[in-house]
Amino acid sequence: MIDFRDRVAVVTGAGSGIGAATAHLLSAAGADVVVVDIDACAAERTADDLPGRAIAVTADVSREEDVDRYLEAAVEAFGAVHLHHLNAGIAGPADPLPDLDVADFDRVLAVNLRGPFLGLRAAFRQYRRQDTGGAVVITASIASLRGSHDLLPYQISKHGLLGAVRGGAMYGGPIGVRVNAVAPGLVPTGLASDDLLQRGRTVPQRRTGTPDEVANAVAYLLSDAASYVNGEVLAVDGGAASVSSVRA
Ligand code: NAD
Repeated sequence: MIDFRDRVAVVTGAGSGIGAATAHLLSAAGADVVVVDIDACAAERTADDLPGRAIAVTADVSREEDVDRYLEAAVEAFGAVHLHHLNAGIAGPADPLPDLDVADFDRVLAVNLRGPFLGLRAAFRQYRRQDTGGAVVITASIASLRGSHDLLPYQISKHGLLGAVRGGAMYGGPIGVRVNAVAPGLVPTGLASDDLLQRGRTVPQRRTGTPDEVANAVAYLLSDAASYVNGEVLAVDGGAASVSSVRA
C-alpha cells in the first residue's frame, strides 16, 4: 500500500538528513517530488539524485511568500500536490534558560513552528482548490513528548507542533485530509550535535536511528496503509520517549 504513483509530494528541509531520506523513499515509490530547502545547492543535489521526476525550490519555510512560492512551483510543475512532509527545522541555542536570547528564541520558533503552520495552511488552501484529499506529516521530535534541561526554544517549538497536528487532524478529517507527526529520537544528521548523539547509548535499543528509519515512518503515515490514522504522533526513537531518565 506504500505506492505513490500519481502522487505529488512536497518535502521541506529535503536538502539533507531526514527530509532527503523521505524524498528518496517517496520518489522510489513513484511520487513526483518537490524538494524544498533554504540551501539551494543541497536542494538541487537531492532533486538530481532522485530516481523519479523532481524539482528543487529554494525557500525559507518561515517566510509566507516563500511558502506560497514553493506551492505555486509544485502546482506549475506537476498540476497538484497530494502529500506534504513539513520537516525543515533547526536546533537553535543550547544555552541555559537564564542566558537565552529572545532573538534566538524567535528565530527557532519562526522556522520550527511558524514554518509548519504556513506549510499546513498552504497545504489546506491547495486541497480546497484541488478538491482532493491528502496527507500531511510534520516532523516533531521526542522533544515534543517529554521535558529536558537543554535546547529550550527547540523544545518549546516542538511541543507547539502537537497543536498543529491535532488541530490539523480535526480540521482535515471531514474533508479527507489526514495530519500526523513523526517524533524522531537521536538521528545523526547535520542538526544533531555529537554531544547529543552520545546519548544513543542510553536509548533502549542502545543506538541512534537513521534518516531512513524515520523516512519509513513518514512514508507509512503518508500512505493508504495509514488511512485511518489521524492526529497521531509516532515516535521513531528506539523506545527513548517511553522510558524515564528519573529512577523511582
Ligand atoms: P538536517 O540539518 O540534516 O536537515 C534540515 C534541513 O532543513 C537542512 O537541509 C536545512 O538546510 C533545512 N532548513 C533549515 N532551515 C530551513 C528553512 N528556514 N527553510 C527551509 N529549509 C530549512 O537535520 P535533520 O535532523 O534531518 O532535521 C529534520 C527535522 O528532523 C527537523 O525538524 C528536526 O527538528 C527533526 N528532528 C531531528 C532529530 C535528529 O536527531 N536529527 C531528532 C528529532 C527531530
